[in-house]
Amino acid sequence: MDIQAIYKQANALLEGHFLLSSGNHSGFYLQSAKVLEDPKTAALLAAELAAEIQAAGVVADLVCSPALGGILAGYELARALGVRSIFAERSNGKMTLRRGFEVKAGERVIICEDIITTGGSAIEAAEAIEAAGGLVVAFAALANRGFCSRVGSSITADLTCKLPADKPFFALADFEFPIYPADRCPLCATHPAAIKPGSRNNS
Ligand code: ZN
Repeated sequence: MDIQAIYKQANALLEGHFLLSSGNHSGFYLQSAKVLEDPKTAALLAAELAAEIQAAGVVADLVCSPALGGILAGYELARALGVRSIFAERSNGKMTLRRGFEVKAGERVIICEDIITTGGSAIEAAEAIEAAGGLVVAFAALANRGFCSRVGSSITADLTCKLPADKPFFALADFEFPIYPADRCPLCATHPAAIKPGSRNNS
């Protein structure tokens, strides 16, 4: 499965000259939610991710996603694995299980995101699960931004990755692309001014 092609087709992987929220520039931008806009694509990607998890022998009782970004990916992954799906959300800044979601002691949980950058929200969701008595057995995401090491890829985790090294991380693809400080961006010389993705006015 050509994951990058699927992202491009869905306008989830944009190419151009972008101003990131960090202030850095990049030639690529991921709009992760766009790839899940078509439920058929979402189901296809989740089935592939579930197959990787099952092939590795990881068994779970449920999937938990950090809201908001991870919910659709986690729900589809749970469907593909035949387990239930819950989500954690911020309440007063702390990732919490609400809405009557419960985890029984010892239940095995996969934490699922749409994309893992450094894994910060995923780790907070994992902490909420463990505080409730659950056992986090793996992390999963449709895409890996390239800062964390995943099963089946040679990418090594860099210092910004927050995922624990002793739990497997499954993802369908690595989206590694360079980012540049605004004053040292080679694209500035060859492209129109960097735009904020999602902005309709490109001026
Ligand atoms: Zn630039």
